[in-house]
Amino acid sequence: MKQLKAEFFAQGQYLDSTNDTAGDCWICKKRIDYDVKPGTSDNSHELDHYYPVSLYPDLQEDPANFRHAHRKCNRERGNGQPKSDIGQLVPEWW
Ligand SMILES: [Zn+2]
Repeated sequence: MKQLKAEFFAQGQYLDSTNDTAGDCWICKKRIDYDVKPGTSDNSHELDHYYPVSLYPDLQEDPANFRHAHRKCNRERGNGQPKSDIGQLVPEWW
């Protein structure tokens, strides 16, 4: 898994260097800080699993289940589904 994470980070780093948005955080759609090591700051890269490992342990090492994410976004998401736009959570009458 460690190896897979390193490869995935390198892939995201490459995508970012070519201005490919596929290397951005899949949760908040913003750029990830690929200049720092993974998991060292809120904006650093973390490998997120689209299907949480706690629910789908079989998919832990399946690259098709990998998503680039900020450490912060990944932590906030936990095992839930990604939060939709904040605006949608606020009632229209607000
Ligand atoms: Zn993010």
